[in-house]
Amino acid sequence: MSTHEFDIIVIGAGVAGGVFAASQPASTRILVVERDLSEQERIIGELMQPGGIQALNELGLSHLLEGIDAQEVNGYNLIKGNERFTINYDEVQKGIKGIGLRNGKFLTNIRKELEQRENITLVQGNVSQILENNNTIIGVSYVQEDGTTISQFSKLTIVCDGPMSVLRDKLSKVNKKVTSYFMGLVLKDLELEFPSYGHMIVTGDFPILVYPIHTNAYRILIDYPGGKAPKMGKESIERLKEDVVKILPEEMIPAFLKAIDEEPIKVMPNHSMKGQAFRMKGAALLGDSLNMRHPLTGGGMTATFSDILCLNGQLAGIDFQNETKLEYAVNEYYTNRGKDVETINILANALYKVFTNDELKEACFEYLQKGGEQATGPLSILSGINKNKKFLLKHFFKVAMQHPIHFITKPAKQIRLYKNATRILRPILKDEEVSAMI
Ligand SMILES: Cc1cc2nc3c(=O)[nH]c(=O)nc-3n(C[C@H](O)[C@H](O)[C@H](O)COP(=O)(O)OP(=O)(O)OC[C@H]3O[C@@H](n4cnc5c(N)ncnc54)[C@H](O)[C@@H]3O)c2cc1C
Repeated sequence: MSTHEFDIIVIGAGVAGGVFAASQPASTRILVVERDLSEQERIIGELMQPGGIQALNELGLSHLLEGIDAQEVNGYNLIKGNERFTINYDEVQKGIKGIGLRNGKFLTNIRKELEQRENITLVQGNVSQILENNNTIIGVSYVQEDGTTISQFSKLTIVCDGPMSVLRDKLSKVNKKVTSYFMGLVLKDLELEFPSYGHMIVTGDFPILVYPIHTNAYRILIDYPGGKAPKMGKESIERLKEDVVKILPEEMIPAFLKAIDEEPIKVMPNHSMKGQAFRMKGAALLGDSLNMRHPLTGGGMTATFSDILCLNGQLAGIDFQNETKLEYAVNEYYTNRGKDVETINILANALYKVFTNDELKEACFEYLQKGGEQATGPLSILSGINKNKKFLLKHFFKVAMQHPIHFITKPAKQIRLYKNATRILRPILKDEEVSAMI
């Protein structure tokens, strides 16, 4: 019988792999292999919803958000032309807020934590291969900085190589779609009426997000719809400047113009990908390598932490030498994870489509603007705290049906609204395997 030096090998010390490894008990021997341990400036994973904070608390890791000048986020400020209103997260009264942060700083905190743990070995290396024997994953090969290749073995390999994963192919049916791209810049010296809020600007044909990431700095993410990456030549940037200035609130324009003239624009594809893992003994996928949704609602980290809680629940107290029990635990993780992340996925993918359809966008804005339950209800879903799918669907259809009288006074428009709402929702629910709900 071969002796495995590690119980678990984790590929990727990003949000998923890093937090998963840090949340394992001290008795579990773990190797974490990360391609690049340097601190990066990334435009992904910078707004953590209250549900993500709550999950991080449950994992005993909320201290990872400390010392990085992260900023409180109390809710959203919705802006359409001259109309604007704020919605607070319900959870703020209970002391749970959202947080805006720099992803690179958060990852540095996570990696420092891994380095301090005696049971964890963190190495820099590019995993080139997942090793297999008799239909079982038994470890990985990785290439070190000096070009040498090392193989390591474990009873369980957790693949967390992120949105651009190349290792997921062996472990899942990949049906990745690029819905749009986000172009990101940092806005400085902004004087906002609601500084501690996420701003969702839906004035134009493409949504724009603005939220605080550290003192005196806001991330702006500009959506570029479609599956083709935006061109970043001089002329294209000039056109982008003009288009964005037309729809950006006045108080944000000087900071935007300064940023676009001084910084390179960072571009990332926005994927949606159903979680469709194959069962392969000895391995599991976690994070964006398994499942992705549009990042408009900032739900990715919350979904990932929810998956970690589910997987940890299955691995609790497990004997890593007992392959049957280990296999059962991973199976249960794949079977049970869905119910906690489906609501996040449905909302993210549906809301993005709503905001790119003029009539539905109008209806959604009007509905949320009414305040009360119409505003805090949907936001409780977006926050990742409320995972009730029926509640989400109720609000979704109430948006389309908020004026039943329009079936008589404006029948064509009302029928179109209803049909478009159903057309948006049906394939998304099918992807999440809950289509029986409509
Ligand atoms: C534009 C954009 C904005 C987003 N904004 C938000 C947001 O505001 N809030 C939110 O909650 N979610 C957001 N998300 C989603 C969120 O970023 C992801 O859900 C989350 O980062 C997933 O974590 P991960 O660990 O799977 O991937 P990552 O955090 O990307 O980590 C993957 C890690 O694997 C490493 N790696 C890759 N290949 C290898 C290899 N072969 N060998 C070794 N290491 C490897 C990488 O270097 C990286 O460190 C956003 C996504 C996008 C695209």
